[in-house]
Amino acid sequence: MERKVRVRFAPSPTGPLHIGGVRTALYNFLFARQHGGDMILRIEDTDSNRFVPGAEDYINEALAWLGIGIDEGVREGGAYGPYKQSERRDIYREHVKLLLDAGKAYIAFDTPAELEKARAEHPNFQYDATTRMQMRNSLSLPSEEVERLISEGTPYVVRFLIEPGRDVEVNDLIRGKVTINSSILDDKVLYKSADDLPTYHLANIVDDHLMEVSHVIRGEEWLPSAPLHVLLYEAFGWADTRPDFVHLPLLLKPDGKGKLSKRDGDRLGFPVFPLEWHDPKSGEISSGYREKGYLPEAVINFLALLGWNPGDDTEIMDMQQLIDKFSLEHCSRSGARFAFEKGKWFNHEYLMKVPVDELTNMFKPVLEANGVMLSAYSDEYISRAIDMVKSRANFVNDLWDQARFFFKEPDGYAEKDIKKRWKEGTPEIMEELIGVLESLDDFSSSAAEPVVLGWIANKGYHLGNVMNAFRLAVVGECKGPHMFDITELIGRPETIKRLRKAIIEIAPAE
Ligand code: GLU
Repeated sequence: MERKVRVRFAPSPTGPLHIGGVRTALYNFLFARQHGGDMILRIEDTDSNRFVPGAEDYINEALAWLGIGIDEGVREGGAYGPYKQSERRDIYREHVKLLLDAGKAYIAFDTPAELEKARAEHPNFQYDATTRMQMRNSLSLPSEEVERLISEGTPYVVRFLIEPGRDVEVNDLIRGKVTINSSILDDKVLYKSADDLPTYHLANIVDDHLMEVSHVIRGEEWLPSAPLHVLLYEAFGWADTRPDFVHLPLLLKPDGKGKLSKRDGDRLGFPVFPLEWHDPKSGEISSGYREKGYLPEAVINFLALLGWNPGDDTEIMDMQQLIDKFSLEHCSRSGARFAFEKGKWFNHEYLMKVPVDELTNMFKPVLEANGVMLSAYSDEYISRAIDMVKSRANFVNDLWDQARFFFKEPDGYAEKDIKKRWKEGTPEIMEELIGVLESLDDFSSSAAEPVVLGWIANKGYHLGNVMNAFRLAVVGECKGPHMFDITELIGRPETIKRLRKAIIEIAPAE
């Protein structure tokens, strides 16, 4: 019988969720939705030294912002809880005991100093079949001694007893079969009595089993742990229901040389976190995609294509299309370059799809921040302005640079345009233009344009010079959308006011 698809995203709350972690969550989500399966969010907080306050909330907020839905988790609840590992101590204790009783694990008392010494004395020291009998543990010590140490409260760890010389097969759905020999593995610590907590390896395997996880989809950095996990499943007698492994390719620096890091983001000016993060200890602020003005749909689309392709050259896909098209067969084995410039392109594409009334609401705070009195403009005015310039914007914030002249008269004029377009005689021609504009019955773009162009032709003026001087006066520089569309929107009085101001303020170039 086909088993129900159940996947989990299992972050450790040790800081803000990295963009690579977001991609892992996304692939899990796409896979779950495509197969009508369940998506679990499990918080792996067994490393108390690395716990960071606020990190769990950050994870929830980031996934919610991006539309990565969770079916079971700390907030969502579910039949397999608790979903936070620090609340599952009893379960782990019980499972550690199972391994100890079956002779698949043992108790070790070696202090950090003793381990240090062993490492110093034997280069390449590894706690394994070749060394464990020289160490202080329940295999090498008499059982009375072991009992005495435990009853005295001596801190200990439980180590996994790895038999050497066995070929361990990991079958990864992206990478195929990988075989390693168990002799290279060390007897990993599974549990520490000092904080009564398991390590990642034990908790992860026990939870995946109990939560009936069918596929473990995670970053490539976890591939080296997979053979150990295979052996753990075996030791528990769960080999038959072991989940399939899927290790996703690394996210690489934009130049492809090495793993993407926070420093690359700082250096090249792009966020490596979904949301802005305020470090509770250092106070340091790291930028986030949300605060930089990215749309969640654009981030999702961009991330989906970092390590996967739909098999053709389709680039723009919304969440539903991604769900329909996603497949592990089209995930790449090699690392994916983090081409952040492409992220801006995606944002542009999605910005163009936002309905104009929504865009208007998104633009209003930007207008306010730039000192524009919102009450002076109707929604229709704002949306018409946006429509004229949006093709040039990647972000909502860019709209201000492109559309400011719809809301403010120029507070200066571009030097290079003055040089080129505002000559001796220009002020007089602009005076004349004012007269032409005043005489128009209809100030709309389609009515004004032929009249003004006719006047220029009649007088034998240079079309480019006159129209650019007009633009310089109204916009402040020689750029922007169609001139008569601008004047139609700002209206006759404002257009004429700006022409008068320019005539007074701009000194003709020599
Ligand atoms: N807690 C691990 C992490 O932080 C989970 C790795 C896994 O998915 O097995 O990424």
